[in-house]
Amino acid sequence: MERFREAILEGAPAEEIAAIPIPETYRAAFVKKDETEMFAGLASKEKDPRKSIHVDQVPVPELAPNECYVAVMASAINFNTVWTSIFEPLPTFGFLERLGSESIWGKRHDLPYHVVGSDASGVVVRAGSAVRNWKPGDRVVIHCNYVDDQDPSAHDDSMLANNQRIWGFESNFGGLADLTLVKANQLMAKPEHLSWEEAACNALCNSTSYRMLVSPNGARMKQGDVVLVWGATGGLGGYAVQYVLNGGGIPVGVVSNASKAKLLEALGCEAVIDRAEKGYRFWADEHTQDPSEWRRLGQDIRALVGEDPDIVFEHPGRQTMGASVFVAKRGGTVITCAATSGYMVEYDNRHLWMKLKSIRSSHFANYKEAWDANRLIRLGRIQPILSAVYPLEQTGEAATQLHLNLHEGKIGVLCLAPEEHLGISDPELRDKVGEDRITTFRRLGA
Ligand code: NAP
Repeated sequence: MERFREAILEGAPAEEIAAIPIPETYRAAFVKKDETEMFAGLASKEKDPRKSIHVDQVPVPELAPNECYVAVMASAINFNTVWTSIFEPLPTFGFLERLGSESIWGKRHDLPYHVVGSDASGVVVRAGSAVRNWKPGDRVVIHCNYVDDQDPSAHDDSMLANNQRIWGFESNFGGLADLTLVKANQLMAKPEHLSWEEAACNALCNSTSYRMLVSPNGARMKQGDVVLVWGATGGLGGYAVQYVLNGGGIPVGVVSNASKAKLLEALGCEAVIDRAEKGYRFWADEHTQDPSEWRRLGQDIRALVGEDPDIVFEHPGRQTMGASVFVAKRGGTVITCAATSGYMVEYDNRHLWMKLKSIRSSHFANYKEAWDANRLIRLGRIQPILSAVYPLEQTGEAATQLHLNLHEGKIGVLCLAPEEHLGISDPELRDKVGEDRITTFRRLGA
């Protein structure tokens, strides 16, 4: 991969990149099938991604006609890599076995190791014979919606496809590596005013937040809507707040410390709730919720913005769902895509039906939504929320930061890029958008 790295850094022409031989092995971050029991008996937070994520050479898989090899310059950590690394709620090898049973090409994925990672920026180095729109030398970012385009169920909203998967989580050969194997319909043009690591950190969380708030498939936010955003400086929340502000809404951001509150203010979010300072205890004990605490949150929201949220941007799950349903406005929507604190959620259904509220589910984004969300990044209307950068060798440490909620925004990972700040080829747009806006999380993050 060294030859690819040099050629990309030197800005070599496409023909030169296309002529470099594909190596037999590449460096990748992966978990091992024979280690899935290594954390048996431990509580979730005691499971240590630094022990389960390995970085070493693995064989390069064969290229299918509809796929590309991408030399990965940078990647990013997502929560799904945390789930894979702690083998919760299930080891991801089951996903790979199922994919392996579907086709000859699927079989390549069913291996005793799982190369993780669902975000990347880089350069296409080979395109399969059926790829029409991309060629070696193209600078790209990768979205993680992995669908079978020969399946009719994938042709309305591809997130409804029967065998829809998330690349690098439910498929192998993910982005935390020097090389990755992706379907051509996962590729999008790199935002050229951003560095490799700034470009790499967006696609998964940005597209997810876009679908949840902006797309007709989500909560259909409109101008003036009050939107309660949990984890408002986290991966999803950092983009959600920007979408609410861009769309003329009123974000109420919830965070858990003063430094995150400052970051939110820098993003332009005026209504901020520090949940640690407030000390909400939505669960009186493991089995019982305390509606008076839901009410206290509702009062705090009203004190800030004068009304209840039209939309609640929900992902913590068990800890917050009861409160989210309660505080949503009459007729409002709770849009949920996750359950970080537990997926067996509980809420008081009377508050849902009597006040005609809805709970709407969302999951990543279809290609068009991911493309539109990436377009907003390319136009400089949504900013990356990169707060920290690790080398690929320290993927386990980077995942631990996310696992223990020690981070803000997104954590980037340098793969072939030897250092930060490389890969910016539109400095004019960067100047126009403003260095400070692009680097808000990197400058102000803890
Ligand atoms: P993240 O960067 O860790 O941000 C989540 C934030 O939520 C945290 O920073 C934390 O912020 C807040 N939070 C965590 N536990 C909480 C709790 N018990 N109560 C209230 N707030 C809590 O993670 P992310 O990338 O935003 O992802 C969040 C979840 O969404 C994960 O479970 C992930 O797997 C899932 N996800 C799903 C999709 C999808 O397509 N379905 C896509 C992306 C992510 P504070 O401590 O500051 O409050």
